Amino acid sequence: MSSSDSDIVATIKESADIVELIGESVDLRKSGASYLGLCPFHGEKTPSFSVSPDKQFFHCFGCGESGDIFDFMMKSQGVDFPEALRLLGARYGIAVPERRQSRQEREKRKRREALFAVTKQAAELFESYLYQGRASAAAHAYLRKRGVSGDVARRFKLGYAPSPAAEGWNYLGSRLSEQETAAALETGLLVAGKKGGNYDRFRDRIVFPIYTLSGEICGFGGRIVGQGQPKYLNSPESLIYNKSSLLLGLYQAKQQIRAVDRAIVVEGNFDMISLAAAGCENVVAPLGTALTREQLRYIKRFTDNVTLLFDGDAAGEKAAVRAVPLFLVEQMAARIALLPDGHDPDSYIRKYGLPELMNLLEQAKNLPEFVIDRLVAAHSLGFDGKMKIINELKPLFKAASTSMQRSLFIAHFAEKLGLPKEELQELMNTTLAKEGARHVDEPPMPPDELGPVVTKPKSQQEYGLNRMQWQMLEFAVFNPEHFPDLCAAGLREIFVDSPGEAIIDAFEALLDNTSLAEPEDLLTSIVDEAERKIVTKLLLAPRQQAQKQEPDEVIRILGEARLLVCRNRIKEQVALAEAADDSDRLRQLLAELMAINKQIQHGREQVARGIVPGAYPGMKSC
Ligand SMILES: [Zn+2]
Repeated sequence: MSSSDSDIVATIKESADIVELIGESVDLRKSGASYLGLCPFHGEKTPSFSVSPDKQFFHCFGCGESGDIFDFMMKSQGVDFPEALRLLGARYGIAVPERRQSRQEREKRKRREALFAVTKQAAELFESYLYQGRASAAAHAYLRKRGVSGDVARRFKLGYAPSPAAEGWNYLGSRLSEQETAAALETGLLVAGKKGGNYDRFRDRIVFPIYTLSGEICGFGGRIVGQGQPKYLNSPESLIYNKSSLLLGLYQAKQQIRAVDRAIVVEGNFDMISLAAAGCENVVAPLGTALTREQLRYIKRFTDNVTLLFDGDAAGEKAAVRAVPLFLVEQMAARIALLPDGHDPDSYIRKYGLPELMNLLEQAKNLPEFVIDRLVAAHSLGFDGKMKIINELKPLFKAASTSMQRSLFIAHFAEKLGLPKEELQELMNTTLAKEGARHVDEPPMPPDELGPVVTKPKSQQEYGLNRMQWQMLEFAVFNPEHFPDLCAAGLREIFVDSPGEAIIDAFEALLDNTSLAEPEDLLTSIVDEAERKIVTKLLLAPRQQAQKQEPDEVIRILGEARLLVCRNRIKEQVALAEAADDSDRLRQLLAELMAINKQIQHGREQVARGIVPGAYPGMKSC
């Protein structure tokens, strides 16, 4: 980040009052030096969300969310840092200049802007046609039939793309300039005809604009009104529209999802609209694809709890089972409600009403529970059946990302299968070990993670740093007096190509500027969202661990860390040499690899004997 960026961040922080900003959406009461309120990020009945006017920092003791005004903006609005900066700059009247961009970036941004402009224009044309067009009666009748009121239609900005019989094949296209036409072709709103000329993609369809999280229209879904195929049609992928990372309705539903701390996922566009029309507003729908991990991550910005509301046919069940690993990996709690055969959410609500549907949702089964019941029904609990079930469970087990999840998984399924936990664990582990087996020709490797020093939960890998990098960063940030020594010993090297690199740079700049730098000041000078997450996490970590370690010990770990980094680089070169069939080079690299492994092993043996090893020599290929 340039110095002008951090100036702007600092200026905005000076102008803003975190208590006032958060106070607009959270009822805050004074309590000692800080303010307390009900956390907006998790459901609670007694306040554990604390805002400190002195530190201009918020922290929830319930769910652990914390940060400054920028974090609050990002989390409450679900936007990234540049967007939070733009929003807060606008709010406090501070000009936020466009970031310096390369020519390519500028061109890409311009193209994106042109595409967003044309999708917005199209949405407005379709919407006004729905209300003022001369041939929109059938569309109105259709919406009435589906119970969609004017309010709901306006909230989702529904429109109508007229039929060729009423307005020709080029209703939209004929209303666009040459430049807009190019953008409309790129977004797929227009299709180039084989014999020249363009025609509208959406014809005689109710159209639903698809929004990004910051509220821009990036594509459309369309439901046919008259006879015709396909019933549903979506925009094709484009520079601004990626169907596997967006969810229909999330932009409109996000506040409600957060408020009730649950998202309901349905399969179709109209299912989502029908539920919203009936008063169930925390609903989203994927865009004609199976649920993806990216989509879950979007939902996760607002809640960890998801209920799948799927059709009770085989396809719905299959889709639910396929989603299990995704939920496990994202550490989200999923439940599943299946509709009675032959019903979709729309027809169900029409026949039985909202209270019945809420009932169905309340009785939703925990997803893993549902899976085992289904497996037992399919294979039964005889010996062969159990083995088949275990085989089907393996991918789900593999997807569990923490050891706690794995133990819960084992405990849960062992009971269901009537097996001792240890035995199931054993069966699951056998495959994991087999899949992780190394190539036979490779020399034996010491484990990639460092020995017994600190145990960090594996989930912290998510932030793009491994355990050792976390440990180093923690020590460096909380022991600034040793920072120069660590840098001299090669601290930066172990962070190459990781988000830690920028944090080290920012910390160094901070220490250069003032000898009184506090770790908290790091947040002022870091803009990137991923890096900010790391810093926030660091600031909240218990400090005793980082402060208790001896600098010598830390330098030793750093030495070993550098060897591990070096070893990874050699491994990459081994792969290259293998691909190039260069056996001389390969032999040389493998020798270096052995030497490094020996050094690592040797260092560890010395530590085990209570000796602090000296400096490690560098290796040729690093
Ligand atoms: Zn909370």
